[in-house]
Amino acid sequence: MNCLVCGANAETIETTVEVVSLVCPRCGEYDASRSVIAAGQWRQLEPKQRRDILDKAKCSAPLGALPSIRPYLLARY
Ligand SMILES: [Zn+2]
Repeated sequence: MNCLVCGANAETIETTVEVVSLVCPRCGEYDASRSVIAAGQWRQLEPKQRRDILDKAKCSAPLGALPSIRPYLLARY
């Protein structure tokens, strides 16, 4: 599927009921909650805002874990 952040052609690593894991050539590997993908709010964000949210997810990811885009990260937007 396409990268949720930049729209590039990303490889899907894993999908579960709750989470989709992607590898994007530009953004790297990350998880995204399905609730974020399903929410209309994500699509209304500017590309730069999506990028900021991914950066926040990277900062808050535990060592060795994939950054995870979760609904609370969108709360400020
Ligand atoms: Zn990307």
